[in-house]
Amino acid sequence: MIDLRSDTVTKPTPEMRKVMAEAEVGDDVFQEDPTVNKLESKVADLFGFESGLFVPSGTMANQLSVNVLTKPGFEVLIDETGHIFNYESTAAAHLSSVQLRPLAGTKGKLSADQLRDTVRGEHDWEPQTKVIAIENSTNKGGGCCYTENELSEICSFADSHDLFLHLDGARIWNAMTATETNPEFFGTVADTLSVCFSKGLGAPIGSMVLSSNENIKQARRMRKMWGGGMRQIGILAAAADYALEYHYPLLEDDHRRAAELASTIEECEGLSIDSSSVETNILIFDVKDESAESAIAKLGDRDIQLVPFGPKTLRATFHFEITDEDLKEVQTAFRELFD
Ligand SMILES: *Cc1c(COP(=O)(O)O)cnc(C)c1O
Repeated sequence: MIDLRSDTVTKPTPEMRKVMAEAEVGDDVFQEDPTVNKLESKVADLFGFESGLFVPSGTMANQLSVNVLTKPGFEVLIDETGHIFNYESTAAAHLSSVQLRPLAGTKGKLSADQLRDTVRGEHDWEPQTKVIAIENSTNKGGGCCYTENELSEICSFADSHDLFLHLDGARIWNAMTATETNPEFFGTVADTLSVCFSKGLGAPIGSMVLSSNENIKQARRMRKMWGGGMRQIGILAAAADYALEYHYPLLEDDHRRAAELASTIEECEGLSIDSSSVETNILIFDVKDESAESAIAKLGDRDIQLVPFGPKTLRATFHFEITDEDLKEVQTAFRELFD
């Protein structure tokens, strides 16, 4: 089976399992797990933040970020395709009593220009806009990345309007690979950054929130309140650290393979794709003469799995378990089925 449904489907490799088995551990609620502590400092240093907090999921990392940056009644600006808006089960409303205000961006990205005139809160009857939440790379937006210039502009806008910037970096590793942005740059623009180790990096679990000492102290308290306090999780942090060391460099191959499949799709009569929007490991494309469901069924008969992303839209996501051989097989199947 060639599984292109998501980059979350990878399984821990034997080498990763070995470092997990050998990891030093302690009680992380007491902050005594040396492997977790080491990973938190390492990733905070990497991105130029004071502190980091290891959490089970990207959703928890995003929600803790929203929580520490807001008070009940505040408003968060977000692109309408944003993960926090679409895939976190209204958690921001439940857990932080804030309103998400979706804006129509481009390929999942917001721009400083469109943020003009969106900030409110002057009158008692208005929500108080306090946070801009952006994604890099974008998920539903098709894996697109912000340029440093676009981020700087959003950051200056936030600063000049007394807003905080949250960066959902579930795939920041893909964005860094594609744009060659220095990781410390993100620490200079974002107030909070969430990163995932279990997407393209291939750890079985684990995300991190990065911010100031004060914000992370508060996030740690909230993590415990929400039931996310964990004990001897050095075995998980060891997997994340291994993923960072050994799987991060493999992302560029995922990106190359995604671009190669995009070229094939471009040549297929029955498909359409905007190849210029394929910047990382995600491809979103349309089928012309049939439904996404029927295209997925045909591919399924050839042991290739994709997910529907709309009535006529499909998503394919590359990850390190997909080899060049697999790519060839997928390209052949696409030509035979859709050309
Ligand atoms: C996957 C993902 C998350 C986190 O998802 P979890 O399943 O909770 O780990 C957050 N943001 C984006 C953009 C994602 O793609």
